[in-house]
Order: sequence, then C-alpha cells, then structure tokens
Amino acid sequence: MEKTLVILKPCTVQRGLIGEVISRFEKKGLRLAGMKMVWLTDEILTEHYAHLQDKPFFQRIKDSMSMCPVIVCCWEGVDAIQVVRNLTGVTNGRKAAPGTIRGDYSMSMQENIVHASDSPETAAIELKRFFKDEEIFDYEYRNQLALYASDEY
Ligand code: ADP
Repeated sequence: MEKTLVILKPCTVQRGLIGEVISRFEKKGLRLAGMKMVWLTDEILTEHYAHLQDKPFFQRIKDSMSMCPVIVCCWEGVDAIQVVRNLTGVTNGRKAAPGTIRGDYSMSMQENIVHASDSPETAAIELKRFFKDEEIFDYEYRNQLALYASDEY
C-alpha cells in the first residue's frame, strides 16, 4: 500500500469545501492515515515549493498558502499516489476535467483546492515534512475486503 500527502489549501478552507474534498477521497476507498490543521510558515513553504523558486509567482503562492491554516492529510491505498493525482486533476482548475476535484471546484491555476504528491519519492519526503511518525496511524481498515480482491493488496 502507498501513502500520499494531500493539503487542502487555504482557498478550500475559506470556501467551506473541507468536508466535500475529504469526502471525495473517502468515497473512493482511500484510508485516512493522518490529518491535522496547520498554519504553514514561509520557511516550510520555501522548502515545499523549492521547484518553483525561479517562477514569478513563487512569493505569491507562498502568501496564498499561508493566508490561513490548511488541512494536511495522509491517504493510503493501492497505488494511492496516482489515484489521488487522478482524482485531483491537472493544475489549472479551468482545464481540469469535470469530475475531478479541481475540475469541479476550481476556476484558477493558483487557487486549485488541493496539493497532492506527484511521485513515490516526493510523497515520502512530503509526508516527513508535514507529519511526525506518531501522527500517522496504521489501524485495521475493515472496508478492505470490500474494496480490493485479495491479490490486489
Ligand atoms: P501541481 O500542484 O498540479 O502538482 P505544481 O507543482 O507545478 O502543480 O505547482 C504547485 C502549485 O503552484 C500549483 O498547485 C498552483 O497552486 C501553483 N502554480 C503552479 N503554476 C502556477 C502559475 N503559472 N500561476 C500561479 N500559480 C501556479
């Protein structure tokens, strides 16, 4: 099973969409392994968005991500990283396919509802960045027998 990081961005908190978005991941069949509200600092955002540091919108995205607290979640499932990216949709909410989270709830390239890890390497780094080991819970998920065939997990 893979674990992946999802951040419900300030735009999601401000628009009252926390429950809607979490419900998408829950209904898909992902197991919630960790969740908390945090107010992200410029320091952690500089690290998190280091791949965008040369972009003209670097400071603006950091300001947007720290305008209020966010919800950070760890979701687990078979191929969870790709499954979550598929549910999320492409970066630009105006271009994201209907049915995806960004496609259904966002009109923006920047204010696009969620961050989702894009590879196993990134997921491992990002989960460590936002969660302590004891904040990730490995509990029995009784739904599992109804979610997967026995050779799928
Ligand atoms: P994704 O979140 O889809 O993996 P990136 O890692 O490329 O996309 O970018 C991180 C975040 O930076 C995006 O989710 C979005 O909020 C913001 N962003 C990316 N490109 C732009 C842009 N051209 N203008 C404004 N914000 C952007």
